Formats: sequence, C-alpha cells, structure tokens
Amino acid sequence: MTIHENLRNAMTGMVAIRRDLHAHPELGLEEVRTSDLVARQLESYGYKVTRGLAKTGVVATLSNGSGRRSIGIRADMDALPIQEETGLDYASRIPGKMHACGHDGHTAMLLGAAKAIAERRNFDGTVHLIFQPAEENVGGARMMVEEGLFEKFPCDAVFALHNEPGLPFGQFALREGPIMAAVDEARITVNGRGGHGAEPQETADPVVAGASIVMALQTVVSRNIHPLDPTVVTVGAFHAGSASNIIPERAEITVGIRSFDPAVRDELERRIRLIAERQADSYGMTATVAYERSYDATINHKAETDLLRDLAIRFAGADKVVDLARPFMGSEDFAYMLKERPGSYFFLGGRTGENDRPLHHPGYNFNDDLLPVGAAFWTELTEHYLRGA
Ligand SMILES: [Zn+2]
Ligand SMILES: [Zn+2]
Repeated sequence: MTIHENLRNAMTGMVAIRRDLHAHPELGLEEVRTSDLVARQLESYGYKVTRGLAKTGVVATLSNGSGRRSIGIRADMDALPIQEETGLDYASRIPGKMHACGHDGHTAMLLGAAKAIAERRNFDGTVHLIFQPAEENVGGARMMVEEGLFEKFPCDAVFALHNEPGLPFGQFALREGPIMAAVDEARITVNGRGGHGAEPQETADPVVAGASIVMALQTVVSRNIHPLDPTVVTVGAFHAGSASNIIPERAEITVGIRSFDPAVRDELERRIRLIAERQADSYGMTATVAYERSYDATINHKAETDLLRDLAIRFAGADKVVDLARPFMGSEDFAYMLKERPGSYFFLGGRTGENDRPLHHPGYNFNDDLLPVGAAFWTELTEHYLRGA
C-alpha cells in the first residue's frame, strides 16, 4: 500500500477527530479530555503511550527493526480564550474557548500519521510522537523539556509544523536559522497623584506621563536598535482614568516586545525600563516596570531544514516549496525543543480561497483538506529519516 492509500483509509477518522476536538476546546494545561482522546487513539494503534508529561502532555513511542536512530514529531493540543463566531455545526460548545490556531488540526494530523506509520511499519528505528499542551500561554514545550522529555525519549532530531491560512494551500514554507521571534512583555505602572480634574496643579497626572512614555517608546526600535535587527515594540494596552473631571492615581501600560538576537533583547529591556522611569521622573512621578521574558526565538538547524526541503520538494513538487526570505515576528515554544535537539519547524499553507480568516480570529477554521497532506508528510519524513541501511 502507498502512504496515500493508508491515509485515504484514515481520512474519515482524522476529520471526525479534528471536529470532535474542535467542538471541545481546552486551554493550556487543561487538555484533559483532549490528551485522553489522543492517548487512547495511540494505544489502539499499538504505541507505547506515556501520559502526564507537563500535566497533560502525551508521548507515543513505536520501534521497528534494529535501527538505533530516532525521530521526534510534535503536535500542539491547546485552544485559545476566544468566543467562536464560525457558525459551524461542530463549533465550540464551550463558551469563550475556541480552537482558533488550528491545534485541533495539528493533533488530528499527527494521529493520522501515527496510524499510517504503525500500519506500514516501514521504518528501522524509533519514532516518538510528542503531543504537547499549552503552546499558546505558559510554554508546554519548555515544561516537557524540563521534565526530561529528551532523556526519557531520546530523539536524534525533532520536527513540527504550523498551518498558515495566509499561504497557498499545500505550500511548504521553511527557513534555515531564525523562523519565529522571541517575545517578552513589560507592564509599566505610572504612579501619579489623583484629584479633581479642575485642579490639575494639585495632582500629578499619570495620563500625561503615560502618554509621554507611549510616544517615547516608539523611539526604541527606530533610534536604539540596528536597522537590520528585526524588532517590534507594541504598546498593546494603556489603561487610566474613568471620567473627564477626575485625574486618576495611576496608569497601566502593557508592551509586547519581539526580537531575535539575545544582545538586542537585553538592550530592548534596558531602554524600555529607562524610558519609562525617566519619563515619569521628568513629570515628578515614578514608574514601576514588571518585565517578563517569555519564549525564546525559534531557530531552525541547517541539516534538518535541508532534509525537510529535499523531502518536501519530492513530496509536493518544487513549486510548492518556498524558503521564507524573512522570519515571522510571532513566537512558538517549539523553540525550547530546538534548543535541546537539532530539528526544524515549518509552515504548511492552508488557504481555501474563500473567506479565509487569520489565526486567532473568531471566524478562523482549520482547513480539513490539510489533514491528509500533513499526515502523509509526517509519515514520509519518519520513513525517510528511519530508513533501513
Ligand atoms: Zn496560536
Ligand atoms: Zn498555534
């Protein structure tokens, strides 16, 4: 049987699982129902299944032949705190939660591959299928790594993909080196002195100092960072006050910061702290800055990206494979798996051509036609990476 024949058989199952997961989304580290469904499926295919890494993470292992090579493939399982507005008959049944990033599709796709890999047993070595929780918030990948993922399940290389509704259907978009940015968050509190709006001279107005901070922050990227170092500083929230006749006590500013180079990342933090504190000081106030480092940048390794590219060209044709000229400024905690093991992360285009919504949009839906494409590719990759001598 060809891989495609195996997957034609698995297709109905994959779509059913994907839609079932879609109707029952669970947020990061709460994927109890999801991981139970995943584990049961994998057990029924004959995998040795380990549950409970990073609370709800699942790893499925299958060995064949006497080969000593091993490969890891990751899917993420968590949903987002978004109220779904797709109107689908299998739309989320949980208010305020939605699979708006397609992790339902990533999970179903890897399960389809799991089934085909087990049925065909056309490999020599060990495959570890890694189903991680909490990609969207607390870094389930990092938690799994810290709990000994690669000591318990040694992988010579690890791979992952993300669907991308903005790219043509079936397109493989890959990149050697940086592909996703590091992300940090600064929460700035401007401490003023409130009072009557008619007597500003008796107060210290944090709205004015805060506005000044927001404007001054725009100079960090343009004046402090090398023009060829990709960085973003976005003031995503500015909250202060309640009415025109009241000067509030404080203002709260939330800033999202993206970068690649660790030295640039340090410089961004230094400048943001300094600007917030000194701007506030110049208005006779103080600012406190809570600065939180979140995900590191996702950096693809050369050899594994070359391997992906070669295989993708054979699999889909050269016209379906692109090397991204630039990385994306979004972030991904697969970064932490790539810091431990060589590997590569790529995007799989999912555009339908009608009514496509971006990831994290309340109208987004994973394109089910990608299920056999992704599942077949993961199967090919496994069989290619673990081919016999
Ligand atoms: Zn997402
Ligand atoms: Zn995602």
